[in-house]
Amino acid sequence: MNPRRTRLAPSPTGALHLGNIFSFLITWAIAKQHNWEVLLRIEDIDGPRKKTGAAKEMLEIFKWIGLHWDGDAHIQSSGFNSMRCTLDSLIEQNLAYHCTLTRKEIEDSRSAPHELKNQSMPPYRPPHIRKHNAEKNNQPTNWRFTSSLQTEHIKDELLGIKPFKPSDDFVLWTKDDAPSYQLAVVCDDHAQKVTDVIRGNDLLQSASWQDQLYRAMGWEPPNWYHLPLIIGNDGKRLAKRHGDSRISTFRNQNVAPERIIGLMAKWAGNRQPLTSSTAQDFLQDFDLKNIPTENIVYTPEEEQWLYA
Ligand code: GLU
Repeated sequence: MNPRRTRLAPSPTGALHLGNIFSFLITWAIAKQHNWEVLLRIEDIDGPRKKTGAAKEMLEIFKWIGLHWDGDAHIQSSGFNSMRCTLDSLIEQNLAYHCTLTRKEIEDSRSAPHELKNQSMPPYRPPHIRKHNAEKNNQPTNWRFTSSLQTEHIKDELLGIKPFKPSDDFVLWTKDDAPSYQLAVVCDDHAQKVTDVIRGNDLLQSASWQDQLYRAMGWEPPNWYHLPLIIGNDGKRLAKRHGDSRISTFRNQNVAPERIIGLMAKWAGNRQPLTSSTAQDFLQDFDLKNIPTENIVYTPEEEQWLYA
């Protein structure tokens, strides 16, 4: 039997914050408890959003927290050729088409009256759009995937079976001649033989798109685990207005890594009340069954405890 394998897949587009480390620590703990391999992949294909020095800082922070991985880090941008081959295969199968439409034009096409309007299926992707776009190819365009027009189901190991209504034809290759996140992540996870994908629930919808790509390519999809996000008191995703939750800031202000991990241990349902923990303590106490399914609020009291 092939070994089970997961990955830590940070994007060097900004500093790591508490929410990222929460996901990574849990990914690592699940893998270690089951003797799976943990790979590290730097997802650096988002050229315009990439920040100089971010990848190096991420590696330092992983070490500071006590997160380890197997083998060398894989740099996603080194694998464009195989992603291009996957795109070519999808084009050959008539599952990809080039699309000159902007997101706005696609939105408008949904509300415009057309032949599907009165059918029970919502008009997410009228066939004439796909056809119209397939005929224009004289300018740089996105390539889109002809996504399913039926409700898709994803089996998530934490959340159970999740249905997804038909959605946009997502981008596979951008007009700047680069693979999209959806295509890149599937190609890499397949090439790296990743069997278990563990990440924040903001990527749950992406799992339904990625699953379609796996099936189109005849590849075995991984097991999916989507973790709760860390949110502020106002119910919104952690952002600057909730204070500075960057790990580099805590580190620069001499907050001990054991405090950060202690907070993660509380959030993961490992222990109550807040107590300092090492990564090894976290691993020992961790139980997948205790992870909450609801998003988790980062409170001002918790912030105070980090600095206390
Ligand atoms: N690189 C992505 C991110 O940092 C994660 C991708 C994934 O886990 O599939 O949000």
